[in-house]
Amino acid sequence: MIIDLRSDTITKPTPKMLDAMMNAKVGDDVYKEDITVNELETRIADMFGMDEALFFPTGSMANQAALKLHTNPGEQVICDKYAHIYNYEGGGASFNSGISCKLIDGHRGMFTANQVEESINPPDFYHSPLTSLIEIENTTNKGGGACWDFEELKKIRKVADKHHLGYHLDGARLWNAMAVTGEDPKLYGGLFDTISVCLSKGLGCPIGSVLVGKKELMKGALRVRKILGGGMRQVGYLAAAGLYALDNHLDRLSEDHKKAKEIGDLLGTFSWIKKVEPIETNIVIFELNEKVNEDVFLSQLNEKGIRIIGMGSNKLRIVTHLDYTDTMHDRLFYELKQLKVL
Ligand SMILES: *Cc1c(COP(=O)(O)O)cnc(C)c1O
Repeated sequence: MIIDLRSDTITKPTPKMLDAMMNAKVGDDVYKEDITVNELETRIADMFGMDEALFFPTGSMANQAALKLHTNPGEQVICDKYAHIYNYEGGGASFNSGISCKLIDGHRGMFTANQVEESINPPDFYHSPLTSLIEIENTTNKGGGACWDFEELKKIRKVADKHHLGYHLDGARLWNAMAVTGEDPKLYGGLFDTISVCLSKGLGCPIGSVLVGKKELMKGALRVRKILGGGMRQVGYLAAAGLYALDNHLDRLSEDHKKAKEIGDLLGTFSWIKKVEPIETNIVIFELNEKVNEDVFLSQLNEKGIRIIGMGSNKLRIVTHLDYTDTMHDRLFYELKQLKVL
């Protein structure tokens, strides 16, 4: 048995999801004639109370399109030092939009409205890049699946309004945040100018993200997606997976969260672990004792069929997901307790 906990992206479509995909009605989406894609876009736009939505192959492309829609070359986006757009999108912000990132030294990928205010370059000081966008991530990936306090997000909106800045939410795991807080997606739609959400993370789709946004901003979205190479044809087969996931896989996210907490509690009992970061959703980040060699530890797990990833500086990450079964959970506990690490 392989227990793959590297990411919630490793899931495979369930038989029922595959059925839904096989039975999808499709058309050419570049002509906007794919009724299943159109249905998915309308559904997600309505969920968030947003004007428009657009289907993308990846979350990175949806974020990159948003950066382009909000900025001009030479400008600057404010984000956390842990931000996915800064760390994990291949330098796309500079490559695609010609912008730089002003990094906030936040806590677990989150920051305060005051920190944003301090990071804005004065617009008349032409020596520094013009600040044009604030970018938030919820839940935070590198921050360990932490959920933002909505009151802070509202304060940051006020800062954005005061300085005429755009406000983008990378909501790749926003479903996980909303599963914990019970927040209505419309709250987010009412606060942000654009939001990207992912269908291939916790929801179990093979591919797909959606960018929702206000009409004025989304005007250019089709063109930007085309430029990035994301104009796709009969992708209703993939959008059908998204519709299926919204109906069937949203409500079960709390199971992933419960398992993640249980793993965290167990890890906390081992002497070879220095620290387990707080667990709010489906991500567990923990730090090994100085005496433990990360590579040796990872290969020990590998021998037992357990896969997790290293994040550098003796920190490791476990992510629970749809394909991580109760049986695997029991087996993981058994193997971890048996492990001779020190
Ligand atoms: C996974 C992820 C994305 C998008 O990833 P893709 O692999 O391009 O779909 C964006 N933001 C965050 C925070 C993520 O975790």
